Amino acid sequence: MPSGAELIRKIKEQITEVDPREVHDLIGGTGNGYVIVDVREQHEFEESHLPGAVHVPRGHLESRIEGAAPDKSQRVIAYCASGNRSALAANTMLRELGYENVESMTGGITLWKDRGYEVDVPKSLTPEQRERYSRHLLIPEIGLEGQQKLLDAKVLLLGAGGLGSPSALYLAAAGVGTLGVVDNDVVDLSNLQRQVAHSNDRIGVPKVDSAEIAIKEINPDVKVVKYQTRLDASNIMEIVTGYDVIVDGLDNFPTRYLLNDASVRLGIPVVSASILGFDGQLSVFKPHDGPCYRCLYPTPPPAELAPSCGANGVLGVLPGTMGLLQSTEVIKLIVGSGDPLVGRLLLYDALAASFTELKVRRDPDCPICSRDPSEISDEEMGVFPDYELFCAAAG
Ligand SMILES: [Zn+2]
Repeated sequence: MPSGAELIRKIKEQITEVDPREVHDLIGGTGNGYVIVDVREQHEFEESHLPGAVHVPRGHLESRIEGAAPDKSQRVIAYCASGNRSALAANTMLRELGYENVESMTGGITLWKDRGYEVDVPKSLTPEQRERYSRHLLIPEIGLEGQQKLLDAKVLLLGAGGLGSPSALYLAAAGVGTLGVVDNDVVDLSNLQRQVAHSNDRIGVPKVDSAEIAIKEINPDVKVVKYQTRLDASNIMEIVTGYDVIVDGLDNFPTRYLLNDASVRLGIPVVSASILGFDGQLSVFKPHDGPCYRCLYPTPPPAELAPSCGANGVLGVLPGTMGLLQSTEVIKLIVGSGDPLVGRLLLYDALAASFTELKVRRDPDCPICSRDPSEISDEEMGVFPDYELFCAAAG
């Protein structure tokens, strides 16, 4: 039976080791076909780690490495404190987990620091936050870094109604640090069939105040910024500036055009959903990465189909489904994981229990997103036939 030291020496002979200098050059270069995996314990990673490293503690290697490095042919560089644990991890990945190209960094982060190379020192969570977000910290796609991004993020909810309610509750629960809420209405009994941020005892209360109470009940850490107003051309730029992502739960087309134009000008992604009856649709409009709302709808739909012009029936659960799909896209955009619904329109038919996805292309002649954002003037924003006439036309 070999001693531990002998075993590690043997394993090091069987794997490839890489010098910190080469890893340093790799990080400083422009290529991105590699993953750097820190296999140390949580507290070691949180103290400091290599820039861009993903964290997969050696004890969780088998269960979590595929989340952090899904492509098994990709170059993977493992490191630890001194190069022993990473050698063992590299060996496991090569021999047992089917990875083809894994190296262990010689001397670990200790030698890296001795050479004077920079490290990332993450902001740390309080013990309470660590407990509250523990299930996020366990997923490699979020982890400490992603949670920190969520805590630093500012998300604007346009509407605290059917779509805004589930987003408000779940984004608060997820730890989004700042939630702006724009809504001019008060809570009405007929809202409670679907607008779950509100409650019976808050009928008559402004929705922004009611939503704030619900958010704070879930997570007192969240800063709520209330805008008890109707979004229009006079206030939109001031309200949306500074937000990282906008959740569009708007109920009318004219404001959607206005929102589109403002978000393209400011480069803020919009996660947009709409609902009617048993049908929902969802897309992410990320300026210049994909089509904008005007690329999808160059002209508004016929007025008689505009849901905002009167009370329309909707299955109470449906805005919950669509609002949570929106929240999911918001979280993905903030943490930078997965494939956001950019250039794709997702249709949900609740009666059929079916999802359909349509490709949406950018219009090279789009009046808004085909241009330099700085050239779009205030006067052009949200240009649209008069809304009163628009609804009157619907009869
Ligand atoms: Zn466009």
